[in-house]
Parts: sequence; C-alpha cells; structure tokens
Amino acid sequence: MKILVINCGSSSAKFQLFDVDTGAVLAKGNAERIGIDGKLTYKPAGKDEFVSTEPMPDHKVAVQMILNALVDKDHGVIADVSEIAAVGHRVLHAGMHYSESVIVNEDVKKVIRQCFPLGPLHNPANLIGIEACEDVLPAGTPQVAVFDTAFHQTMPPKAYTYALPYELSEKYSIRRYGFHGTSHRYVSHRVAEFLGKDYNDIKIITCHLGNGSSFAAVNHGKCQDTSMGLTPLAGICMGTRTGDIDPAIVPFLMKNENLSADEVDTLLNKKSGVQGLSGVSSDFRDLEKAAKEGNDRAQLALDMFAYQGKKIIGSYAAAMEGVDVIVFTAGIGENTDHMRKAMCEGLEFMGVEFDDEANAGLRGKEAIISKPSSKVTVCVIPTNEELAIAQETEALVR
Ligand code: AMP
Repeated sequence: MKILVINCGSSSAKFQLFDVDTGAVLAKGNAERIGIDGKLTYKPAGKDEFVSTEPMPDHKVAVQMILNALVDKDHGVIADVSEIAAVGHRVLHAGMHYSESVIVNEDVKKVIRQCFPLGPLHNPANLIGIEACEDVLPAGTPQVAVFDTAFHQTMPPKAYTYALPYELSEKYSIRRYGFHGTSHRYVSHRVAEFLGKDYNDIKIITCHLGNGSSFAAVNHGKCQDTSMGLTPLAGICMGTRTGDIDPAIVPFLMKNENLSADEVDTLLNKKSGVQGLSGVSSDFRDLEKAAKEGNDRAQLALDMFAYQGKKIIGSYAAAMEGVDVIVFTAGIGENTDHMRKAMCEGLEFMGVEFDDEANAGLRGKEAIISKPSSKVTVCVIPTNEELAIAQETEALVR
C-alpha cells in the first residue's frame, strides 16, 4: 500500500511517499517558498534529484506539483495518483480532543480549526495542506490527521494541570499538552519490540533530543508525563528555546527591556537556548567544536543541556516509581555519544550501569548502551516520524 505523508508549514510542504508493506521511501522532497515564488525539490529513490522553480502561488498548486512529479514519465515513481491509498498529515495540535490519529472529516477539521490559538504557526498550515489534498486528489482518497499532541493525552490531571486560577485554565484550555508525540509513541513501542519486552508491562523514559527536545515518561504503555507544555517552549533548553525558566523573568524582561508580548515570545523561542547561551550556534556539532577549542559559553550550554536532561530522567524515574528502559532518539540522541553519556553518568544509584564501549562512536543505529548487568536498560533507537505517520495512516485506512 502506498501512503503519502505530508508535513505542511505556512510556506512549505515536506512530503514522502512510502510503500508501507516494505517501509521503503519511493520518493521524498519539499515544496518551499509557497506564496512567495516556489521551489520544489523532489528525490525519487535511486534516481537523481530534480528541482523545479515554477511558481507556487498557494498550497493547492504545490500539492498538484508534488503529484505531477510523482507520476512524471521521467522521474515519477507511480503510474497514476490513484495508487496513493491515503495521505497522512502531520498536525500539531488536537487540544484535548484526540488521543489517537483519525481519518479526517468535517468534525476533525473543525477541531483542527478550534485549536488554531494553541498552535498558531502550525495548525492553520496543516489544515491548508489537508484541504489542498482534498481538492487535488481523486475524490474519496482518505486523509488522516496524525497529531503531535495525541500520545500525551493519557497524562493524569496532576501531570498536565498548571497551578493557575482554575477558571482561567478552563477558559483558555491552558494545560500541558506535550509534543513530538508521534516520535515518543514510535520509539517507545519500537524499544519494547527491540528488547523483546511487553510494552504494557514496562516503564520507559523516552529522550527525544533534537533541535527541539522533549522527554516522556511512558508507564505501562501510557504516557504519564512529558516535558513540553502548552507550547513546545517548555522543558529542557533547546537549540534556540529557553526551556523552563522562572516565569517571572517574562514580565521582568518586558518591563526592563521595554518588550511587547510578541517580542518577548520571539526572544524566548528564537534567540535563546544553547544558541543564545553560547553565542555560537544552535547546532550541537558547532557547540562541541567550539567547546573543544576552549569556548566557555559553548561548554556551559552543553553542560546545562546534559544537567537538565539528567534532572528530567531522575524526576521521571521518581514519578513512575522506577524505570526499566531509557531510550535516546533524534539528531542529538542518535548521534552524540558524549551527551548520552553525560545524561546517564552518575545514575548508578537508580540502577543504570552505562556501557562506555557500546556507546562510544555509536551513530544512528538501534543498540543497547548499558551493561548486561544493568537494572535499567539504556538504548538508542532512531526515530522515524514520517514512517510512523505512514504506518498509523495505513492502520486506520486498512
Ligand atoms: P533534529 O532536530 O532531530 O534533526 O536534530 C538536530 C540536532 O541534532 C542538531 O543540534 C545537530 O547538531 C544534532 N545532530 C545531527 N546529526 C548529528 C551528528 N552526526 N553528530 C552530532 N550531532 C548531530
């Protein structure tokens, strides 16, 4: 079965066409600068990349161009668009409405629209992508919404409620939602399978460490807690995001730097994190290089990231009253042995015996990086959010 996965932004649409029976990516690419001028990058498996700069005035034209590329007689990978059994859309926010992926209908679109205030940058673009596909694909092609927030909907109220006046939280639906849910779901399931354990019988801490980073405590198959909150700004410090800070810093900066709400929002989301701390880069490869060359602020950024990550791991072990598996994933989690080691070092008191040899130099591969005698098994599992979206889409439409 062939499934098209689309991740729509306000001026872009990233896509991958999967054969879900084999897991193979038949083609992938990105339609960028939609509404500005237009650039389609398209890479069919085993063939050369193709770039088109034909104008893309809107998402409908962009989706049509993607479909044209997929069926093109020279670089296409399918004979007809009717071969696409369904489209899986990455959608940021479902509020409190869905704990699973759903086939899109008018009610689902209404929910995505209702959640615009909770995901103002993503949800409108996600809906535009869905509607563009409805317009352009053969009538009746199922569209599936796979939500970043859905996996975390099993959290209990004590984990997701903020200590604000209750009426205000209710009025604006302010609570912890959590993000990267597709990745946490995929990696937690996969690690159980990889270790031959029953998913519903173990306590897992998933550490998704990328440009955006989040942790989840997955207790007997259910997400019990996660580090991102109402928005993806919360939790550990990230590439350009502060992570958790004393909330009083916000009015302090607004008053003393004369910043508007939007300006302080930009400062916290785009100019902070390890980039703001180091003044070097948001990329951990650049930070490691700078730290090696003696840059103290780059070293501080790395130390803070490791320290904050370790604190979250420890707190989730306490929250679940134990942990069986710690799993690292995403750009940093899959590739940076120093960071995995730094987050696990000193956790012998809670049963972690880290295996330096297994960890050193390991990149992008499923592996166990704790000693066989370790009470807690530490693993690396590469995430694959697009494949997870394709698989969830397939499961729903089959
Ligand atoms: P992601 O958001 O999952 O793509 O992760 C991006 C982050 O992963 C960046 O900070 C990169 O520095 C880091 N990263 C990606 N590949 C590597 C690598 N080979 N070695 C070290 N860090 C990496």
